[in-house]
Amino acid sequence: METIRVPVIIGDGTGEDIWNASREIFEEAVLRTTSGEKRIEWIPLLAGIKALDAHGTLLPEETVEAIKESRIAIKGPLTTPVGGGFRSVNVYLRQIFDLYVCMRPIKYFDGLPSPLKEPSKVDIIIFRENTEDLYRGIEWKEGTAEAQDVIDFLKHRMGVSISRDSGIGIKPMSRAGTERFSRWVFEWAMKNGRRTVTIVHKGNIMKFTEGAFREWAYEAARSYGDRICTEERTGIGGVFLNDRIADNMFMQIIARPGDYDVLLCPNLNGDYLSDACAALIGGLGVAPGANFGDNVAIFEPTHGSAPKYAGKDMVNPTSFILSGAMLFEHIGLLDTARAVRNAIEETIRAGAVTYDLARQLGGVKPVKCSQFGREVLKKLTPPVL
Ligand code: NAP
Repeated sequence: METIRVPVIIGDGTGEDIWNASREIFEEAVLRTTSGEKRIEWIPLLAGIKALDAHGTLLPEETVEAIKESRIAIKGPLTTPVGGGFRSVNVYLRQIFDLYVCMRPIKYFDGLPSPLKEPSKVDIIIFRENTEDLYRGIEWKEGTAEAQDVIDFLKHRMGVSISRDSGIGIKPMSRAGTERFSRWVFEWAMKNGRRTVTIVHKGNIMKFTEGAFREWAYEAARSYGDRICTEERTGIGGVFLNDRIADNMFMQIIARPGDYDVLLCPNLNGDYLSDACAALIGGLGVAPGANFGDNVAIFEPTHGSAPKYAGKDMVNPTSFILSGAMLFEHIGLLDTARAVRNAIEETIRAGAVTYDLARQLGGVKPVKCSQFGREVLKKLTPPVL
């Protein structure tokens, strides 16, 4: 029997509830879909607040080393207090492993609630650049010497006057960063037979960051010749590349979701869009995610630690479980991924849903997080090939 070793960061807040409901599903899915030839062994790792309490650091070296060695990990949500000197460990993980692609599939299936009239048209993959933009966290607090230095520099060297009581943030977006991200997404779209890639940007206002992002993505597409067409360069077949201004995109995705397929977003726009699109298929409890670099991939739900629900055995583990399915797909266990997805879909279709979906469906009694996990487990059968 082959053992697949998978690092896991259970996470803060509701992370424990979600992990308890999901663990056995993953283990059973691997066993059943490989006829007992493979099994998972978890490598439990600490990060965030739990790591700070145990080791005095948010991201212990052994966590980094274990992920580096395995090249994959699955993680639950980590809490980042707003303000103060506490940087996001989620962002830090993406930066140290150079996980420059964030992928968030948003696909409707029967049984999910949706505010849309025709939710079955929602089948969108949001790709978000993961290492640049305002998310780099380069900022200085109002009143500090650093903020004053930047304000003085802008005034005396650049002729720009801003209020002295400003906090300052920097929004770096590079040609190289945009190009490697765009190429990753184009290649994924071609390999997976997707029809359209839409660049989402606010280039009409932020010309040299978001506007440049748009230009650089089009530039990267040119090297693919006829395999990527645009409105100016129509070819035979291939992926069609177009672009939309971000505010318009928020409207379009609700009004005409069927027109959109793969979205290519800068970091912050992609962050906002991910949550907005999750609302089209039942909310954050349903939307999975993955972060890819050239060497490491980390799989995680779109949602955060939802601390008010911690320990209440209430939240929806679907997003985490589907993130696990993405991990299985990544390591080539396609049947396992399919079996997990099928079991989730059948469970929800049968009406076993947690509070978040039940309150939108109306007249449905919610099941606990743990109960939902047990229902999924019951539906888990090897896929019929
Ligand atoms: P959140 O934890 O995502 O929760 C926001 C709301 O989304 C919840 O109050 C709940 O809505 C719903 N929700 C989230 N997870 C759910 C689940 N599994 N099942 C059902 N509903 C779910 O966002 P937040 O409250 O803004 O952030 C809390 C902490 O998480 C912060 O420290 C933040 O920095 C962090 N965070 C971490 C990550 C990550 O680890 N990747 C991502 C985002 C945020 P209702 O209240 O309407 O039921």
